[in-house]
Amino acid sequence: MATDLKAPLEKIQLPSDQDATGRELGDDEMVALAEAIESGTLTSTKGKFVKRLEEEFAAYMGVESAYACSHGTAALHTALAAIDPEPGDEVITTAITDMGALTPILYQSAIPVFADVDPLTYNLTAETIEKAISPKTKAIMVTHLFGNPARMGEIMELARSRNIPVIEDCAQAFGAELDGVKVGAWGDIGCFSLQQGKHITTGEGGIVTSNDPDLARRMYLFINKAWGYGDAKPDHYFLALNYRMNELTGAVAVAQMQKLGDFVERRTRMAAQLTAGLSDLPGLSTPAVDANAKHTYWKYCLRVDGDKFEGGIDGLAKGLRERDILCAPRYIQKPAFECQVIRDQRTFGNSRFPFTLARPEAVDYSRDKFPGTYEALASVLVLPLNEKYTDQHVNYVIDSIRDAATQLFKG
Ligand SMILES: *Cc1c(COP(=O)(O)O)cnc(C)c1O
Repeated sequence: MATDLKAPLEKIQLPSDQDATGRELGDDEMVALAEAIESGTLTSTKGKFVKRLEEEFAAYMGVESAYACSHGTAALHTALAAIDPEPGDEVITTAITDMGALTPILYQSAIPVFADVDPLTYNLTAETIEKAISPKTKAIMVTHLFGNPARMGEIMELARSRNIPVIEDCAQAFGAELDGVKVGAWGDIGCFSLQQGKHITTGEGGIVTSNDPDLARRMYLFINKAWGYGDAKPDHYFLALNYRMNELTGAVAVAQMQKLGDFVERRTRMAAQLTAGLSDLPGLSTPAVDANAKHTYWKYCLRVDGDKFEGGIDGLAKGLRERDILCAPRYIQKPAFECQVIRDQRTFGNSRFPFTLARPEAVDYSRDKFPGTYEALASVLVLPLNEKYTDQHVNYVIDSIRDAATQLFKG
């Protein structure tokens, strides 16, 4: 790892998950796609690819049911609709997530209630969730941020003791495990995204999973306008949307699915190399992973002690960007409750619904309620990672970080 500080590193271009350099999309996807097109059946209600994806994904996860849908956001909406909150019911979640995990709560007339996160793992814990529970809590939505599993053992123990269903947002955590059981199979419902930048991709897409036959049935119906396909007297049973995945997407997803295990292993191997190459650097911490957990590294994050570097975390990020490493200090920049949709309650017309039904405490976003959240965002430096990184790319990232961190370190 020794770096000669006098000789600047030769820059190399890192693969990007936004295009072919960082996404393994090729012949397998083309063949499946051609087959879908030639079949002339592009709807999943009649085709075979989406059904095959659902069967294979359920088997991969070790769960009873999986249903494909249009987006990760649709998957989370489907999960909430299956739980079916009363207007004004509360869903406990994290403020460090994709907005696509939060707007479905509002569309189902429920109130997102934010619990604080552990600033070392960036995840909710049983302790922070417990503080946010109220008589109106209808569900808990746990995000396994960056691919690092939240402590589901403790969270499920709490949730079961209070009889509250748990939705796991696994959009960033394909293949992640706790005690050998995949995340998404711990709670009542697992939700996944196939968006451009996730572990496997179809550009846009989603999957929901469950072991509970009633929840699975309601999810199937919600994706299908609640039309009872195959029933003796089918009808539109309740308010629902068309969130189906189409066969073109399903064909690409089936091809990607065959590679998922390999992608997950590659990411964990590269992350281990990064950790080995960076763990001795002062002022930086490599990811905090529990002994019983398998982190699958949607991104590789460093925790930065900003006081130790010239220009703080932004100075270090600038140093890496100058070396063409497109890192993101502070991830989403601010907690989700500081975004206009939530902060200003911009929902349906001027109604502010469903926030009009919220307990004052549930929409109190005072800074002192979220010390872990603010600390996590202030200290996280997100490094890109994808399945196309070679050893050369990983070593370049290590050398660049060592180089920048050493130059900017103040002590
Ligand atoms: C990507 C993502 C989503 C939303 O998925 P889309 O497919 O983009 O709608 C939700 N939650 C998390 C944690 C995500 O990373």
